[in-house]
Amino acid sequence: MGKSSKDKRDAYYRLAKEQGWRARSAFKLLQLDEEFNLFENVTRVVDLCAAPGSWSQVLSRVLIKGEKFGRCAWQDREAKFRQQMLKVFSSDEAPEQQKPAVRTDTSVDENPRPRGDVKIVSIDLQPISPLPGIITLRADITHPATVPLLLKALDPDYDPETMNQQASQPVDLVISDGAPDVTGLHDLDIYVQSQLLFAALNLALCVLKPGGKFVAKIFRGRNVDLLYAQLKIFFEKVYVAKPRSSRASSVEAFIVCINFQPPEGFKASLEEPLGVGSRLPRMLAERNAVVPIVAPVLMQDSETGAWNDTPDRPQTADESGISDVEVDDLSTGPQDKDIRWVAPFVACGDLSAFDSDASYKLPEDHVSLDPVQPPTAPPYKRAIELRRANGGAYGKPPGK
Ligand code: SAM
Repeated sequence: MGKSSKDKRDAYYRLAKEQGWRARSAFKLLQLDEEFNLFENVTRVVDLCAAPGSWSQVLSRVLIKGEKFGRCAWQDREAKFRQQMLKVFSSDEAPEQQKPAVRTDTSVDENPRPRGDVKIVSIDLQPISPLPGIITLRADITHPATVPLLLKALDPDYDPETMNQQASQPVDLVISDGAPDVTGLHDLDIYVQSQLLFAALNLALCVLKPGGKFVAKIFRGRNVDLLYAQLKIFFEKVYVAKPRSSRASSVEAFIVCINFQPPEGFKASLEEPLGVGSRLPRMLAERNAVVPIVAPVLMQDSETGAWNDTPDRPQTADESGISDVEVDDLSTGPQDKDIRWVAPFVACGDLSAFDSDASYKLPEDHVSLDPVQPPTAPPYKRAIELRRANGGAYGKPPGK
């Protein structure tokens, strides 16, 4: 697909280039923040699976520069863009308004207030081009050696010889947008994604402070309700959210976990990581005995239209009749009995925002911009080099 037709078919791809974001994913984080106020009182953040770095850009602009992307600022900007688009679509518009796309500074905050003592560490398998004020690490989040690397980045005094795997200076928020190279084999993709999610959760448990938040990409599949129940061991509230910039046709969603409350005596350990063995089911059973799993129900206020949690309705898994479900995948063995729990689903992003599944007409003189940050070391780079060396896709003509 050419750049221009991609611009037409993917409004967020085009907007990302016009607004200077390295990837369209930036809008997902902004829309999640719009709904959950993720950055409130946050100064220390870990961004996992961060390349090419659009989530880190959002963090940098909000925390380091102090820009505001709250509900109002974001909606204002969206409204402005929609207006521009509508102008562009209307045929009786003066020609000078049909301008080709240009990069625009989208800052709407005239009075930015940088936060003090900000620390942001971003990790990816791929190199991340530098971003001011952000520590970037090239590492595999599923590898145990990444934990000391991360702890050292968060606290230069960290000494792996003498200190345990818990951050001495913990963080307020861990975000993970990790995605494997999708194979198209649905079950395999969901399985690999769930492994990335558990790796992100294990890292988060090592570095989060009580009260902290965890946001991660998931692929919704069979038994995802089991995963929600497991997250509920550690967080007071667990939601599954779908930003408007994430295509409705994709299984992608984000779990948003609020108020980290590790069970008493819990110690994160990568020697016994969660996601394998019987640790999670055991903890789930213990936790459910002490703190009944509470399933909040979202109710819409008929007057304001706002969605609110109903007052928490204590309900053990047994009472709800959803216990003792035989599970045969994800983290538990086939013999384990476990609990499922349905997390409230929240669609986020203003309804007037662009629809990521729709194609939009572009002005005739539309000029497609190059991506802000081309991939630094894409896995296909070597293949392209080899193909070029061999004279292109069809090989060297005979006799050359
Ligand atoms: N949030 C990013 C942004 O806003 O620019 C986009 C992330 S992209 C959708 C998914 C990333 O996950 C890729 O850059 C990939 O390299 C990374 N990834 C996949 N498996 C990983 C692993 N095991 N460790 C670290 N990063 C991983």
